[in-house]
Amino acid sequence: MRYLSTRATSTDTTERKRFCEILLEGLAPDGGLYLPEHYPQIDAATLTRWRGLSYADLAFEILSLYIDDIPPTDLKAICAKTYTEAVFGTQEIVPLRKLEDGLYLEALSNGPTLAFKDLAMQLLGNLFEYELARRGEELNILGATSGDTGSAAEYAMRGKKGVRVFMISPNGRMSPFQQAQMFSLQDENIHNIAIDGVFDDCQDIVKAVSNDLDFKRQYKIGTVNSINWARLMAQVVYYFSGYFQATKSNTEKVSFSVPSGNFGNVCAGHVARSMGLPIDKLVVATNENDVLDEFFRTGVYRVRSSADTHETSSPSMDISKASNFERFVFDLLGRDGAKTKALFYDQLASQGSFDLSADAAFKSAAQRYGFVSGKSTHADRLATIRDTWQRFGSMIDTHTADGVKVAREQIQAGVPMIVLETALPIKFAATIEEALGRSPDRPARFEGIEALPKRVRLLPADVAVIKRYIADHVQ
Ligand SMILES: *Cc1c(COP(=O)(O)O)cnc(C)c1O
Repeated sequence: MRYLSTRATSTDTTERKRFCEILLEGLAPDGGLYLPEHYPQIDAATLTRWRGLSYADLAFEILSLYIDDIPPTDLKAICAKTYTEAVFGTQEIVPLRKLEDGLYLEALSNGPTLAFKDLAMQLLGNLFEYELARRGEELNILGATSGDTGSAAEYAMRGKKGVRVFMISPNGRMSPFQQAQMFSLQDENIHNIAIDGVFDDCQDIVKAVSNDLDFKRQYKIGTVNSINWARLMAQVVYYFSGYFQATKSNTEKVSFSVPSGNFGNVCAGHVARSMGLPIDKLVVATNENDVLDEFFRTGVYRVRSSADTHETSSPSMDISKASNFERFVFDLLGRDGAKTKALFYDQLASQGSFDLSADAAFKSAAQRYGFVSGKSTHADRLATIRDTWQRFGSMIDTHTADGVKVAREQIQAGVPMIVLETALPIKFAATIEEALGRSPDRPARFEGIEALPKRVRLLPADVAVIKRYIADHVQ
């Protein structure tokens, strides 16, 4: 399998890369995102064989279709070490739970940081360690976080050889639980940096450091953001697992409802569907930051300004643009790299939006790709959390509530609807208290974490200071 950029305008296939070449890279050099040259097709016999596999073995089968530069025995060992009951809490890894006839939750949030990002990030940590050791190289991961991504990355990379993490967060702006999760890590290769500023300041610093190419090269700076193909590929696995748990035979179809921000999660659903998994609808559920809902309803993709980006009670979906969306548009446009580049590079830069409403590809998109969409407000999420608790005794978080609310608008008789549970309620306790008048349950391993010693360095929001801190800590 080779990989190409969504902005590739040359048909020269010698320029295409193998998996381990793109693993440690972020964007392609032309600014596009990497995608496989084609989506391997899964026939009925294969699907039947996979139905009985453990999660780790299923992951190995799917990853093998996309990775041909890691020996199979090594890849199998990496999958076995990643997807264990000890790390994810159950033997199923992503157990399905029924709310009512036709409506299910797939629990993706029982990993170390209680959000679905662990499912991909834990694999990424093991792949990074393996590939860096093979090359005899080191990597310093620099990131900005307002919560979920930073902690998932730290828990995936802690104690890994050859990797250090420098994670910048806005001082005092994460929930106490999220701060405790990150700052209580005592591993030497994990560096928490809190700055005086907001999340945008953190991101600006990461950008400024990454744009200094000499510094980046000298200090081997890398990232783990959601545009990394390996993360997306890892997420494909739980669509297959959810399908097998909800059905008895491969003639049945299911739909998925996906609480969405950067379009990484639901893009993995698009890949699974493109491989032939019998998915009927992919429901893109957004909060008040409805960039994606607007696109699927109207064909207009309009990036928001920061003034126009709302702070909501489902903060991991508060985005101004969807950084993985270019992948789907590339497929939608028949994999025309020149056209994709014209939209995402030229038009977005000059106008802040593009309009595909008149394009034949957009008009048939729902039918060909199964995408539909909807959104929720804070009041909708409160009502959904309350309803799900009162009628089914099931406590869901604010992001999952968005998925359930929009799922109900799209349910069709005879097609099971699986809502992806993307976080546990304990991470967003304040809203649960607002909805239910009680605090969420806390998994035993997180009892008292707020009282643990904290390992964090407070620094000014100054690029030069951050660079000096990194330089001083990479030896
Ligand atoms: C990251 C995140 C999302 C959004 O996922 P995308 O892949 O960015 O669309 C939704 N819910 C939770 C809890 C998250 O952490």
